[in-house]
Order: sequence, then C-alpha cells, then structure tokens
Amino acid sequence: MSNTDFALAVEDLTVSFDGFKAIDKLTLYVNRDEVRVIIGPNGAGKTTLLDLICGKTKASAGSIKFKNEELVGMDEHLRVRRGIGRKFQTPSIYENLSVFKNLEVSYPGGRSVFGALGFRCTDEVRERIQAVAEEIGLQQNLGMEAGLLSHGQKQWLEIGMLLMQEPELLMLDEPIAGMSARERELTADLLRRISKNRAVIVIEHDMDFVKQIAHKVTVMHQGKILAEGAMEAVQNDPKVIDVYLGH
Ligand code: ADP
Ligand code: MG
Repeated sequence: MSNTDFALAVEDLTVSFDGFKAIDKLTLYVNRDEVRVIIGPNGAGKTTLLDLICGKTKASAGSIKFKNEELVGMDEHLRVRRGIGRKFQTPSIYENLSVFKNLEVSYPGGRSVFGALGFRCTDEVRERIQAVAEEIGLQQNLGMEAGLLSHGQKQWLEIGMLLMQEPELLMLDEPIAGMSARERELTADLLRRISKNRAVIVIEHDMDFVKQIAHKVTVMHQGKILAEGAMEAVQNDPKVIDVYLGH
C-alpha cells in the first residue's frame, strides 16, 4: 500500500510548547474502515495529537494528510468541511433543546449565521436525523430535552451530531468515561457500526473496551509511538507493559 491510499497519513509531526515537544516526530497511518485505538500514560500526547489533526493546535513541523490533502496550515472549520469530526471529552450538546433539534442544528450549514436564519428542516434533513437517531439508539428520544438524557445517551447524541456531517474521519477522546457497563457495551456496538464507511480514532484507557473495538492499537509515550499493532502483540510487548500496562 502506498502512503496515498490511507485516509490519514501523519508524518514526522512535531509540536513544541515553549521548547517541550508534546508530539515528537510522530508518524502514523490510518486506513479507511479502520478503528484505531490510541493508548498510553497520561501526558503521552494523545489529546494533543487529536488537537493537531482537527486544527485546534498548530503543528511546529511535519505533515498531516487527509485523503492525500495537506491539513497543516488549513483552518479548523475547513477541516470539518473536508470530513473531519472530533468529539471532546466533555459533551457539548444543547441541554435545553430537544434531541431532534440538536441533530438538526448539526446538519451541515445549519449552524452558520446565514444557515441558522434561513434554515428549513427539509425532508432530506428529517431523513438524516431519523437515520442518525437509529444509529445512536435515540430514535425513541427525539422529542426529549437533551439535558434529561442519561450521561451515556448524551455522549451518543454528541456522536450523532458529528455523524450528521457524515465525517470520513471521526475522532473520539475517551468516549466511555463515566459510562455504565451496559452503556459501554452499546458504545462498542455503535463504534463497530459507524466505522463501516469511515476511519475512526479512539483514545481510551479501558482495555476490555479497547479489545472489543480496535483493529489496531497505537501506544504513545512522551510524544512518540512506543508500539503499534494487534491488541495481543501490543499487550505482550515488554516496553508497553513497562511504561503503561504494568501500572
Ligand atoms: P494525554 O492526552 O496523552 O494525557 P496531552 O496531549 O493532554 O496528553 O498532553 C501531552 C503533554 O503536553 C502534557 O505534558 C501537557 O501538559 C502538554 N500540553 C498539552 N497541551 C499544551 C498546551 N496547549 N500548552 C502547553 N503544554 C501543553
Ligand atoms: Mg488526553
């Protein structure tokens, strides 16, 4: 496979904060239809890597190509339009709006100043809302105020808000934190479903969950990649046990 066939190709990526390299010459390739899980100790640079890919943080050096187009130097909102969706650790839903409305305003164009003024909920939008609501398991909750959802349901709603934009790369930072065992299971099912047509990058600490969803695992440490491969290989890697799993 050549480097141009990947959904995401990160090469020699570096970011320095006052001389401290939070990401240090990191190279990573992610396929279409792949769920990649990134693990590693606190401070390894996992969240910073997602910040660099979505454009929240500017790279100091290196390249980030998405479908063979360079992202370094591109504005954050343009990256969203190119098909990059990012979920942060704390959900950012509109608590006082219905689930339906939350999905509606996330439809591309629905959130812009002009879009918000002249926005019409067309059949096309309604169909997409229905399809996404089914995908995230909230089809029975469309009329409900989002603030009344359970913690897990709020997380799924936020994933749904990203799905409204049909991202080709979806990045989730610790999506199951605070979820019940049942919610974790349902989230694993959800991630398997939504990775069918896109690349998904998940940062997660829960190894049982990682085992259920990961096609490949990348272990980060001090801004670099310590190990990468199938879950079993990574789990038995003495370097990984030493800096992460052994604790
Ligand atoms: P992880 O998500 O793996 O726990 P982070 O990516 O949050 O790690 O952080 C990696 C390192 O970079 C940490 O030492 C953190 O303090 C530092 N860092 C992250 N963002 C900034 C920033 N904006 N300014 C300065 N230091 C930062
Ligand atoms: Mg983090």
